[in-house]
Formats: sequence, structure tokens, C-alpha cells
Amino acid sequence: MKILIIEDEPELRNVLQQSLEKELFIVETAKDYKSGLDKIISFDYDCILLDIMLPDGSGMDLLKDLKKEGKSDSVIIVSAKGSLDDKVAGLDLGADDYLSKPFHLAELHARIKSVLRRNNHNGQQLLQWNNVSLSPENRTVLVNSQSLSLNKKEFDLLYYFMINPNRLITKISIAEHVWGDYTDEADNLDFVYSQVKNLRKKLKNVNAEINIQAVYGMGYKMS
Ligand code: CA
Repeated sequence: MKILIIEDEPELRNVLQQSLEKELFIVETAKDYKSGLDKIISFDYDCILLDIMLPDGSGMDLLKDLKKEGKSDSVIIVSAKGSLDDKVAGLDLGADDYLSKPFHLAELHARIKSVLRRNNHNGQQLLQWNNVSLSPENRTVLVNSQSLSLNKKEFDLLYYFMINPNRLITKISIAEHVWGDYTDEADNLDFVYSQVKNLRKKLKNVNAEINIQAVYGMGYKMS
């Protein structure tokens, strides 16, 4: 389970990170709006702890950005602004929970677990292949129950392979499914090759039992 902490106060950020790592979460951090935005666009998290007052923007806008990207990462707003208005606005924008500073770490842990439990119980369909499971809705991949971090394209690529197992998939159809309109402008399909290479490497590093085989001159086959 992967958690992103977006918080500008270094001391609080470190305390949160250490306490969550002790709970065996994989924890990443961002210290401002801009780096938070980079992270939420490039990766998927099981839960995001979101501060509202950031030096270069508002956490509320980050929440809007997240929803605009069509992401379903769970969000808990962790804010010093304890006003009811903020809480209502945050929940309206799709946050899963709201916690006012200061709070006890035990309280935060309980809230995180409750949010994760709730979102995993929403009866979503999981794609499974050997020791790999992929949730299209959460955009998460688990290998042997460990979260695997993929960027957007790698995820889309793996998703496409997993719904087409044991079938030859041409580079063109991969490009069209994963890159969409951009494909028309590309001179060649080398970007497919390099993205497949990255994905394979990430899968291999965690001993995923997925084999993506190149079929020379044609495309790829997953088995
Ligand atoms: Ca702050």
C-alpha cells in the first residue's frame, strides 16, 4: 500500500513518514503544490494525505486536479484550517476523510486503514495473471500482494496486455490504445519499444510471473 504525504512543514512531514513506514506502508512525500501535482499525475497512490495550506497553492486545487485526471486515489485532508467550510468543501470535492491538526498518530492510522478498507470493498473487478493482480479502477498493481509503482503509460500498457493474454498484439494497436491520438504524429514506434522495456524491467525486479515476449517485426505477446 502506497501513501503520498503532501505537507510543507518538514517536521510534521518526517513524523508522518516515519510513523507510516513503521506501519509498513510505502511512503512518498511532496513538500509543495508543484511537486505534489507532479507525483499525483505520474503515479497512483492508495491514499494521499493532503495539507490545504501549501506555500505555492491550495491543497483543494490539488484535489480538483486529481479528480480532473480521473484518478481514484483515496484522499484524507489533513489541515490546520479546522473550519467546517473547509471540511464540507473538501468532502464535496471528493476527499474521503478530513482530519484537523493537531491529531494523534493513532487516529490518523485508524482513518487511513478505514479509508483503504472501504475503497477495497467497493466490489471492483480485479485482473489476475499468476502472481500479478491489477485493479483497473484503482489503477493499482500488486505483485505477490506488494504494490508495484508504475507510471501512467506503463500501467496502461500492462492493463492492455492483461486483457489480451496469449495474443499477438501489434505495436500499432499498442500505440493507439496507450498513446491515443499522439500516435499519428509519431515518426516511428520506438516509444512503444522503450516503454515495454521499462515495464518488463519493473516486473522482473519484483519477480512478477508475467512474460512479455517480442514477436520480431510484429509486436508482443504476453503469457
Ligand atoms: Ca501547510
